[in-house]
Parts: sequence; C-alpha cells; structure tokens
Amino acid sequence: MNTQTFRNYINGEWVDGPTFENRNPANTDELVGNFIKATPADVAAAADAAAAALPGWSGLNAPARGNLLYKVADILEKKFEQLGEEMTREEGKTFPEAKGEVRRAINIFRYFGGEGSRMPGMLVPSERDRVHMFALRKPIGVLGLINPWNFPIAIPAWKLAPALICGNTVLLKPASAAPLSSWRIVEACHEAGIPKGVVNYIAGSGGAIGSAIVNAKPIKGVSFTGSCDVGHRLHAEASKRRLRIQLEMGGKNPTIVLADADFNSAVENVANAAFLSTGQKCTATSRAIVEDAIYDRFVAALVERTRKLKVGNGMEAGIDIGPAIDQAQLEVNLRYIEIGRKEAGAPLVGGNRITGGAFDKGFFVEPTIFSNVTESMTIAQEEIFGPVLSVMRAKDFADAMRIANNIPFGLSASIQTTNLSRAFEYIYSMEAGLLTVNLPSAGVEYQLPFGGTKGSSFGPKEQGPAAMDFYSDYKTVYLKY
Ligand code: NAP
Repeated sequence: MNTQTFRNYINGEWVDGPTFENRNPANTDELVGNFIKATPADVAAAADAAAAALPGWSGLNAPARGNLLYKVADILEKKFEQLGEEMTREEGKTFPEAKGEVRRAINIFRYFGGEGSRMPGMLVPSERDRVHMFALRKPIGVLGLINPWNFPIAIPAWKLAPALICGNTVLLKPASAAPLSSWRIVEACHEAGIPKGVVNYIAGSGGAIGSAIVNAKPIKGVSFTGSCDVGHRLHAEASKRRLRIQLEMGGKNPTIVLADADFNSAVENVANAAFLSTGQKCTATSRAIVEDAIYDRFVAALVERTRKLKVGNGMEAGIDIGPAIDQAQLEVNLRYIEIGRKEAGAPLVGGNRITGGAFDKGFFVEPTIFSNVTESMTIAQEEIFGPVLSVMRAKDFADAMRIANNIPFGLSASIQTTNLSRAFEYIYSMEAGLLTVNLPSAGVEYQLPFGGTKGSSFGPKEQGPAAMDFYSDYKTVYLKY
C-alpha cells in the first residue's frame, strides 16, 4: 500500500495542505496515494507564480524550450513501466492500455519539443516596395489546464506540451479521481529543470477551486476537457472575463455497420470501441447502427464476442475490461442499464454489477448490449460513459447516416464498409470532428487535430499543428527597409 503524499507544486516548491485519498477502483482497499486539497489561496499563489515566471519563460528561445520538453519525455520514458502500472491502479484501465497511453504522452512531448524549432509563423510578399511583412507567434500568457480522469497522462500532456512550447506558463489541475499520472509529468518537469513558476500543479476538487482558476487575475485562457455540464458553466464564467477558452466534452458516438462490411473486423471494431477502457473513452462507440440486411447476424456475433471479454483487475494478464472509475460512475452505469431495460427490454448480454470475491472491492459492471434501440430512447441520446452499447437498426445507408447525425453531440464516428463511395459520402456528411473508416471509433494519434463539433466541443482543436492555434497568438509586422 502506498501512503505517500503527492504534494501540490507551486512556484517550484512542493506545497502541503489537508489531503484527500485516491484509491484503486479495482480494489478500494488499495490506497494509490494522498493528494493535497488546494484552496483558492493556493490557486492565487500559483497564478501569481506563473505570471512572475512568464517573461523569463517566453523570453527563452523556443528551441531551448523544446530541449526541456525532450528532457521531460526522456524522464517519463525511464519510468515507462512504473507509469503504466500507476495508471492502471489509479484509473482502472488495463496495463497494456495504460502503457499505450504513457507511450503516447512521451511522443506528445517529443512532437511539441520539435515544434520549438519550427514555431511556424507567416511570411508573405507585400504589395509595397521594400516592405517586409510577416507574422510571429507569441504566447497567450498564464493558462489554466483542467483535466478529466479517463486519459490521466495523455490529456494533460497534450495540453501542457503545446502550452509550454509556445511560451505560456500554466496551472495544471488534475481530475480528483486520477491525479497521479499528471503529478508524474510535473515531477518530470521539475527534474528536467523547467524554471520555477512555469508549471504549477494544483490538485483538489473542481467545485472548490474551479472558479478560483477561471477568476485568477493573471489567467488569460482555459483549456478544459470533461463533462458538458462543467464545460458549459466554465464557458459562461470565462466569457465574462473574455478569456480564451477551449472545451472538449461529451459524445454519443456512432459506428455505422453496412451490409458490405468486412463482417469479422466490423464485429471486432465495435466490441473494441464500445467496451475497452470500460467504455470510458470520450471517443468510445455507444451506438452501433447496423444495416437491416445483416442486423440479426451481426448482433448475434457481437453478443458472442462480448461474452468472451474478461472483466477484472487491469493488472492481471488476460483482462480486457477494468472497473468503472468510482462508485458514482458505477451508479450512473447501473441507472442507465435500468432505463435501457424499461426502454428496450432485457439486454442481450450483461446488465449487472459483477460481485463476489475480489469483485466486491471494485466497481465492476458487465459489458452490456441493448438491441432494437430507437432514436428517441434515452440510451440512444445521452452519454453514459460506461460499457453499455445501444444497437440500432437502419433500413439502408441513408437511414443509418440520418440516425447517426440525429444527436446533439459530434465527437467521433466510425463506418464499417468496403464501398468506397459510401465511405466518402460518410466522410463529407457525418457531423463529427473525428472520423474513422474500418477502424474503431476510438484510438487516436497525436499528429493531427483532435476535437469534436456540435455540443461536444467549443473553440480551436487540440493536438497536431492545430494545437498551436489555441496556445499562441499572432503578432503581425510590416517593416520598410
Ligand atoms: P468532469 O466531472 O467535468 O471533470 C473534469 C474536470 O473538471 C475535473 O478536473 C474536475 O475536477 C473539474 N471540475 C469539476 N467541477 C468544476 C468546476 N465547477 N469548475 C472547474 N472545474 C471543475 O468530467 P470527468 O468526469 O472528469 O470526465 C468525463 C467526461 O469527460 C465525459 O463527459 C467525457 O466524454 C469527457 N471527455 C471528453 C474528452 C474530449 O476530448 N472531448 C476527452 C475525455 C473526456 P474534479 O475531478 O476535482 O471534480
């Protein structure tokens, strides 16, 4: 059992205070660590430290900032296995999935480290003689980075690395349910020699300190990933101060399965996207929209595949699905399963909390499939964020597209088809920010923009070259020589 206290990090110092516990959702007897409950005064101190560090950090040349990001990546790499294990213990996802996420975080630091040597601006010819005109990138200033628990190292990495390379200083707030993985990033920043005040880590309840982050005087922008409810409230508050804001929120992502699909890989892709990481990916498939001609055969095969998935402690070999993140999320899953029973009848597979023996110590729920779900049902409209899949019947491709788009969200979507024309029709008319074809709807890389549309997102995209647009602004120069 780890009784270590992971302190907050403000102005280059590890800061104490009252603590809260973080426990393993697969075994609540196991304490992952104690974390400090930041107060609004801690937030103010962190924001002041970040403001004081801004001139020095933004004045350092960008390739030198990039070298420090490479060092962070190297430090994380040395702890690769440890970070994977810690993530499984704090978040519950399986050890292989956790290691995949750690790898991604390391790659993100290297990718944005490289941006330090590019820092793409603009240089265009003037209409006037002997006028040189160009646009430089400049940092925004002090930023708040508010993170969810479901990708506890990748999401903080994809906010922090572009923020730092552009010359900003930050307050990083982890989700209370999984604060350790991002603490390790901050520890690596400290060890790499990133100057004091540039990165500040403030754990503690969002309800208690969220408003203090948005309202801290030096703050110029907020990048938030999490639920729609919190995102909308933050947006309203941040807009009063005209802060730059970026919101990545919920989804109800469809996978369309057409009769011409490669059948076996479609079954595999839907099972993977719906249930891995316990359905707790913002890009997970929660609606499978299946063409009538193969509906019964597809559903039977999917149910058979789902029965083979093993639920348990993600540190054990052979486990496919870990627990829900906490008691509250477990209750949300079970509540939606009850709603599903009333709306669509008994699930074809799953539908229960898993109990008995070691399961009693964790928040385990069976992967669950409801069939013949229709568009107006709650389980077809609302995000559950658990291993619960609604399968819907479509007459044909056009009907499937209409159903897929008939939701307020637009994060990710997938189609399974061997018909090139339909794949392109889907690409051009699907209302989502992230599309896959013949792949699971989840599983993104870091080199291209990431983010949704409609009710899922607001503001510039994250990741890839697009990330620089949120974390920097242009300064345009006209020079007569
Ligand atoms: P959440 O409850 O909204 O929490 C997200 C973050 O906001 C946490 O750090 C939380 O702190 C903080 N927070 C809570 N109340 C706040 C307030 N009043 N002011 C400021 N911050 C506040 O979401 P979650 O449960 O962690 O994550 C699940 C949701 O995230 C799902 O809806 C999922 O779809 C979405 N998500 C979206 C993406 C995407 O890219 N679109 C990616 C991942 C997850 P505490 O933890 O201390 O409460």
